[in-house]
Amino acid sequence: MAAICERINESLIPDGSRFDVAVDRLYEHEEPTAAEQLLHAYQRLLEVVDEEIATIEQQTQLAPSCRKGCAHCCYYPIVITPLEAKLIIAYVDVLPERDKERVAGHLQQYFRQYRSQLRELREQSYEEADDKRLYKSLHLPCPMLDTQSGSCLAYAVRPIPCRTYLNYSDPRVCGDELLPKESFSYAFLGEYYMQALHEYIQALLMDGEDDETLGIVYPDDSLEMEPLPLLLEKWLLSARG
Ligand code: SF4
Repeated sequence: MAAICERINESLIPDGSRFDVAVDRLYEHEEPTAAEQLLHAYQRLLEVVDEEIATIEQQTQLAPSCRKGCAHCCYYPIVITPLEAKLIIAYVDVLPERDKERVAGHLQQYFRQYRSQLRELREQSYEEADDKRLYKSLHLPCPMLDTQSGSCLAYAVRPIPCRTYLNYSDPRVCGDELLPKESFSYAFLGEYYMQALHEYIQALLMDGEDDETLGIVYPDDSLEMEPLPLLLEKWLLSARG
C-alpha cells in the first residue's frame, strides 16, 4: 500500500480540470429554484470526487473493501462546514415524505440517545490527533448512520471525509485504529471540490441570488468547520425555534 500511496502522491493527483468542466456544465443546468440549483451542484461536485477516485483506482488497480453495512468510519469525527451540513439537510428536505419522516424520527431519537456523548463532544476542539482519539472513544455514531443496517441515511450526499477515506485491506482495521495505514485518504480532492462549490455559489450571487434564496449564509457558512453531529444538533434546535 505504501508504494501505491507514493505513486498516487507523485504522479496521479489530478489537476482539477474535471471540476472546472463540471462547473461549466452546472451553469447550463436549471432547477426550479436557486436553492435546488445549489443542491444539485453540491451533489454533482461530490460525484466528480467519486469519479476522480474511480480513475485513480483504475490506474492503480485498487479495489476498496468498503461495503454497505461496514460503518467503522462512521464513528470517526466527520468535520465539515455549516454550508455542507445545510446542503445535507436540504437534501433530506426534498426526499419523499416517508423517507423524510424516517430521517426526522431517526435524528430525534439520536439526539436523545447520545445526549451525554454530545455534551462531551461540545467541550472538545477535535482538531488535534488526541482529540480525534477521544472522539472515537465516545463511540458516537454519525447522526446519519442507521446503526441497525450500518447504512447511511444521506448516502448520495455524504460529505467529503466519508467519500475520500477508503480502505483497501481488511475493513476491520478501521474499527481497531483511528487512521490505519492500510487506508488511503483522497482528502486532496476536497480542495478542488470546495473551490468549485465556491465558484458556483459566487456565480449564483452575481446572478442576483442571495442568502435567502440559496438557504445559506455566504461566506460565513463556509469559514468554520465543526463535527457533523454538532452542526445537525444546532439545526434541529433552530428548527424547533
Ligand atoms: S454521513 Fe453517512 S457515510 Fe458519512 S459518517 Fe455519516 S453515516 Fe457514515
